[in-house]
Amino acid sequence: TVASNAPCIELNDGNKMPVVALGTGRGTATESAPVDEVRHSVYWAIEAGYRHIDTAAIYFDEPQVGQGIADAIANNLVTREELFITTKLWNDKHRREQVVPALKESLKKLGLDYVDLYLIHFPISVKEDGSPDNVDYLETWQGMEDARELGLTRSIGVSNFNTTQIDRLIANSKVRPAVNQVEVNPTNTQERLVTHCQERGVAVMAYSPFGFLVSRKNPDAPPPRVDDPVLVEMANKYKKTTSQIVLRYLIDRGLAPIPKSTNKKRIAQNIDLFDFSLTPEEVQQINKFNKNVRVIHPKFWKDYPNYPFWE
Ligand code: NDP
Repeated sequence: TVASNAPCIELNDGNKMPVVALGTGRGTATESAPVDEVRHSVYWAIEAGYRHIDTAAIYFDEPQVGQGIADAIANNLVTREELFITTKLWNDKHRREQVVPALKESLKKLGLDYVDLYLIHFPISVKEDGSPDNVDYLETWQGMEDARELGLTRSIGVSNFNTTQIDRLIANSKVRPAVNQVEVNPTNTQERLVTHCQERGVAVMAYSPFGFLVSRKNPDAPPPRVDDPVLVEMANKYKKTTSQIVLRYLIDRGLAPIPKSTNKKRIAQNIDLFDFSLTPEEVQQINKFNKNVRVIHPKFWKDYPNYPFWE
């Protein structure tokens, strides 16, 4: 089997989560990678040492993720036990009795009998037609606890929850969320939310880790870009790329970044992060880019109950 050099974060339930996850959600940057590329990406990632893959029901790529995993296991790169697979519950399956069947559906597509982490994708609930629903995420969480008790997932967590929602969930449930997966990058550093979660034992996964470093649909977005002088100086110092500097910045803040790539070289580059680290001053310097500007800003949900992005 191939070695992984990526360390793990110990979750509040004792499970260990590898710090770098391959992102398989596509199409939030300028390109929209075809779903068929995902099978190869997952295989290349495992070959490069990734042990954590991030998917979701709404990415419609769970079969391709599953095929990549099956290829890697068949070629003796890894065993299932060495992998950490995360998937997510979509917003139209928030009633307690819908959660276990939704996870079973994801497992069928993935070709797995358990995942390592199951997340509520958003605190917002919608009807099948996408119109607002009013299911309380505390009810959804009971379904998540059911799924864990059945052994369909080893850990449970949330995504896109704000501090108020995290506190309300912790105060009203048996099992504390192991993870909150939120957007964190140089233009959206989320210092308050990250500290809030970490102080409560909730590990933070950082999605859209590159922010606007790479080309996005928004040309007016604030810096940094790949050629930003502050990042280039750090990249020269450590003999890394500016993309690697940004991923390392997130790791040095105790976060688990989820870089998406379907390019073999960039997939390998995005986990080649464990032979250097930034100084606290360099981390602070990157924090200064913050503008609270989001890559993912679903304003079309702003009038829905539990819309999280007010703060
Ligand atoms: P990322 O910040 O990962 O950026 C992806 C873009 O960066 C792609 O265009 C990719 O192109 C490019 N890229 C990757 N590596 C490099 C590199 N080393 N140098 C230069 N460019 C690079 O954005 P995403 O928004 O895709 O987020 C990542 C993942 O986070 C998603 O795939 C998904 O798994 C998760 N996510 C979760 C959300 C949630 O609500 N929970 C919301 C959004 C994302 P290429 O492929 O050609 O390399």
